Amino acid sequence: MAFVKVAKSGTLSLNEKSSALAAAGRRVYRFGFGESPFPPPRRVHEALRHAAHRTDYTAVAGMPELREKVAAFHHEVDGYPIQPNQVLIAPGSKPLLHNIMRAFQPAEVTIPGPSWVSYAPQARLAGHKTVGIPTSFDGRWRVAPEDLEHVMLRHRGADCHKLMVLNYPGNPDGLTYSTEELEALTAVLRRHGVWVIADEIYGLLDHRGQHVSLARLYPERTLVTTGLSKWCGAGGWRLGALILPPDAPTALRDALIGLGSETYSCAPAPIQVAALAAYELDAELHGFLAAQRRILRAIGSAVHRALLKAGICVHAPQGGFYLLLDFSPFSDRLVERGIRSDSQLCDRLLAETGVALLPGGAFGMPALSFTARLAYVDFDGDAALRDVDRIEANVTEHAAKMLEGLAALREWLC
Ligand code: PMP
Ligand code: GLU
Repeated sequence: MAFVKVAKSGTLSLNEKSSALAAAGRRVYRFGFGESPFPPPRRVHEALRHAAHRTDYTAVAGMPELREKVAAFHHEVDGYPIQPNQVLIAPGSKPLLHNIMRAFQPAEVTIPGPSWVSYAPQARLAGHKTVGIPTSFDGRWRVAPEDLEHVMLRHRGADCHKLMVLNYPGNPDGLTYSTEELEALTAVLRRHGVWVIADEIYGLLDHRGQHVSLARLYPERTLVTTGLSKWCGAGGWRLGALILPPDAPTALRDALIGLGSETYSCAPAPIQVAALAAYELDAELHGFLAAQRRILRAIGSAVHRALLKAGICVHAPQGGFYLLLDFSPFSDRLVERGIRSDSQLCDRLLAETGVALLPGGAFGMPALSFTARLAYVDFDGDAALRDVDRIEANVTEHAAKMLEGLAALREWLC
């Protein structure tokens, strides 16, 4: 007899550890947890307040009017037709990702490295074999079509679903794919009949507002996951959405509804009502999205510059709020100090400087590669929104705490 082996997710563990250190009076630079710093728009708050009396369970798939709103919203922003019956609502996209993995049986799940922390554990919990696709710093951590082809040629065969996760703008890398890159990947995906979970939760936070949904190019087998956690700054409210392909098999949809009904039942009714206000794509919301992008672009590039100054290898961010740091130029010095892995690096850094980073190993990177993820979210998002028109001029003020942390990191590395 035994118990299922599953560790607490690295993101949530580090968040709890950072909170405990901060509560104990330590100055912690919270680069570890990817939580939006921006508050949801006031009208969304108001809608939630007014819906507090809603104690009912909604349909498992979500409130019909919300599914309609989400379909219309993504039709407009992503430019491809979506019917409300393609949309499923859940308490966060994480349970949707989990249930999608469980719905495909049997499946081999292709997960590019690096990728977000929860895909591989979820695939394993669903009983699937996972297959990596290595990427490189020089290749901007992008999946190359020829590597995808190679993985698909070695796939188990016709009796097993081919499932792949593609997340962009990416966590942990902050990078995205161009339309040409997506087209090249799509040709391979189509040839091999691959089902893709396109995790586009950071799509609306593409810093240039130029996100291209995979569903536009590969509508027949793309399952898009998204939700309120990132662009609406409401991670803890727990509202996620899935957009199924227009001709998704009925059995797949039924499996997802069945799994939802046996696990979370539905997303909380008051949160769904608040989401109705969030998914209202009017001038105010366009302004809110544009402001977040402008702030993240300004802060992301200030943080990126500070990291380059410290001698760390890192690409300029394109979306979301993450950077994947490569400390390999410091390998020899780190080893001399008794640091031999990415997790030792992050542990020592947190203990000795208060800088919290998440080791690359949590994202499927080799432990000996000295990589770590930085989330540039330790700033007052409300103050930044109020100052958005001057954000570039005032960026060092808004990012002051993070820049202080990066100065400590630089000194520690010297
Ligand atoms: N995908 C990615 C890439 C994420 O960073 C996160 C973390 N919020 C999630 C999915 C899960 O998001 P949620 O469950 O809050 O919708
Ligand atoms: N997505 C966030 C991160 O990568 C944390 C939320 C979570 O893991 O559920 O830090």
